[in-house]
Amino acid sequence: MDKKDLTTWLEISESAYSKNLTFFKQRLPKHTEFSVVLKSNAYGHGILEIARLAVEHGADSFCVHALDEALHLHRNGFKQDILIMGPVMRSRLKEVVENNFRLILYNKEVLMGLKKITRELKKPVRVHLKLETGTYRQGIAETDLPEFLRLLKNESFIHVDGAYTHFANIEDTTNHEYAFRQLSLFKKMAKTIKDFGFGDIKCHTACSAAVLLFRETYFDMVRLGISQYGLWPSRETFVSYKMKHSKNGENILRPVLSWKTRVAQLKEVASNQNIGYGGTYQTTRPSRIAVLPIGYAEGYDRDLSNRGYVLIHGKRAPVRGRICMNLFMVDVTDIPEVMLEDVVTLIGRDGDNHLQVDYLAGLCGTINYEFTTRLNWQIPRIITA
Ligand SMILES: *Cc1c(COP(=O)(O)O)cnc(C)c1O
Repeated sequence: MDKKDLTTWLEISESAYSKNLTFFKQRLPKHTEFSVVLKSNAYGHGILEIARLAVEHGADSFCVHALDEALHLHRNGFKQDILIMGPVMRSRLKEVVENNFRLILYNKEVLMGLKKITRELKKPVRVHLKLETGTYRQGIAETDLPEFLRLLKNESFIHVDGAYTHFANIEDTTNHEYAFRQLSLFKKMAKTIKDFGFGDIKCHTACSAAVLLFRETYFDMVRLGISQYGLWPSRETFVSYKMKHSKNGENILRPVLSWKTRVAQLKEVASNQNIGYGGTYQTTRPSRIAVLPIGYAEGYDRDLSNRGYVLIHGKRAPVRGRICMNLFMVDVTDIPEVMLEDVVTLIGRDGDNHLQVDYLAGLCGTINYEFTTRLNWQIPRIITA
């Protein structure tokens, strides 16, 4: 599809993505598996587009949340290992085994289900034990671990391929005490597993913040999510990284995503007129208003009503009135050169201006993760140089 035919599209910069991946790949020891997290449509960036770039630029394997995400990758020809990190209903465990996916394991009912199915199919399954170390999300508690291991001990079709945990408080603070407490409990539990006879397991703990800040979290595999896309997990992680590495202010990550739309209509509006639903903005001068053909359904959050701005011809045009489902309005009175179907930047660079996801997420009282994952999957993703 040609860009000139599109009312909105996302651009994925291959050079930015490859620089991010190379930066992380170089930090990892040779034996550490480099797994990229592609859940939620690759954080809104496009799962198939990102999977392809990830393989080309040095990733070893994938992590997803759902069975259907894993199947989608498989059906599109990806042969890499895929770890499913979210629950799979027991009625669908067969698909996990048949497709040789790696599966998170943290409850006995699923273990029993796997036992039955692997025997029926005479086919093994690889599981990664999720260990509860203080996030209190999915995981096996320390006290339940020995019994769990006993149940696994004589299951020749269930291969304990890995053990992992996830940090609760590593990106939301510059004080990493809690993360280190989780890390020591993880090490203790991993030792229990190995001592039990599961010696050949891949241990992993590291999300983006951990990969950026602490080598001692890497072990045999890392699960890199947000930072492969050139975004910082948080301001605190950025600050911690700067304090540790004291590099002269240069940002080592390159945002991969830009979001564009086009002017759908231009209109002159007199002074004292109310714009949009609820009339929440009133013009204070004769104004030139541009109507843009995207809205909250596409992922441009309604919290940006009267708050956000877009870039047109490299200049800022503020949002006027409420964001509608598929439309919103901006003020272009001070950018007289704007014409019908001109390109509008919602996220990304235009001239000297850089409109960052983090800024928009902040205006919405949320984080970059939420903002990008909510970008509607139907918007075309176009890979650019
Ligand atoms: C989402 C997720 C990650 C990736 O986290 P980032 O902060 O995006 O790097 C890693 N591990 C688990 C278990 C996750 O759910």
